[in-house]
Amino acid sequence: MKCVILAAGYATRLYPLTLTQPKPLLPVAGKPMIDHVLDNLTPIPGIERVFIVTNAKFAGQFQKWADDYRARKARVDFTHKGFEARLPVKVTLGVLGCMTMQGPIIQWVTDHRKHHALSDQPGDPHSPHVGHGDGFWGAARGFAHAHVGWMFSNLGMEQGRVYGKDLYEDRVLVWLDRLYLLWVAISLGIPFAIGYFLGGGSVALGLEALVWGGLFRIFLYQHATFSVNSICHMFGKQEYRSRDEARNNWVVALLVFGEGWHNNHHAFPASARHGLSRFQFDVSWWVIRTMERVRLVWNVKTPSGDQRARRRLLPES
Ligand SMILES: [Zn+2]
Ligand SMILES: [Zn+2]
Repeated sequence: MKCVILAAGYATRLYPLTLTQPKPLLPVAGKPMIDHVLDNLTPIPGIERVFIVTNAKFAGQFQKWADDYRARKARVDFTHKGFEARLPVKVTLGVLGCMTMQGPIIQWVTDHRKHHALSDQPGDPHSPHVGHGDGFWGAARGFAHAHVGWMFSNLGMEQGRVYGKDLYEDRVLVWLDRLYLLWVAISLGIPFAIGYFLGGGSVALGLEALVWGGLFRIFLYQHATFSVNSICHMFGKQEYRSRDEARNNWVVALLVFGEGWHNNHHAFPASARHGLSRFQFDVSWWVIRTMERVRLVWNVKTPSGDQRARRRLLPES
């Protein structure tokens, strides 16, 4: 692992800072130094960590500046603005997202951005690797926490506006979220209506359709999505360098229409395409690509061949 060492204050120890994209040092001090190091100069390919030589008192302060930096960067780099869409497309995708009953959009996205910013480090809302102990039981506890436990513990849930300021200012998203329960009701109401009418006005058949086509469908897709947080941070291949334990898992990828190529996603979070190789089926990408062809979406981002080559760990499958 290559690293950069910064000297600051009265050095007593080497403290690792959890930073990304470190860059050469400018002769400035304190918070501006961290910002300069990370912001202003060209990234050095291959450098993964920054160490700071300082004493314990300043180490905490530097870590706080580094966290601030990451929070700010999260708004710029990890917004996942992988493409832009016309308003009706944005509303349709937002409503469909709410119909999966995984929480209002802004809550979902801020938690997800926080996950990217602090991935598999303290503060990650749903890492299976932090704070669950070692050995088999530690791994099992971590798995359960990443899968569903984190939503009940609420400790990691992002409630502030650090990761979602732009979202709270987006009137369309705020409006969609206010009507969240309506979208959920529609998600359950459609199967009920189909059962009711096809059953010749039978309420019993309507309820049966609601259970299988509504509740059961939502339950299955929720667990498929949760598997990205649990399985895809524990089992699978790491094809690209990312600073966490994210892995590509083809079974999960098939279940969630592409997001299971999760190592690819963490390596290139802004990419609208998750399945980067020919045989990494990514249904979401096919939908986005089709919408791009008919100009419903634009500015669709994917990593260049060069960017991929720089981060590649395994030969292309
Ligand atoms: Zn992840
Ligand atoms: Zn993501």
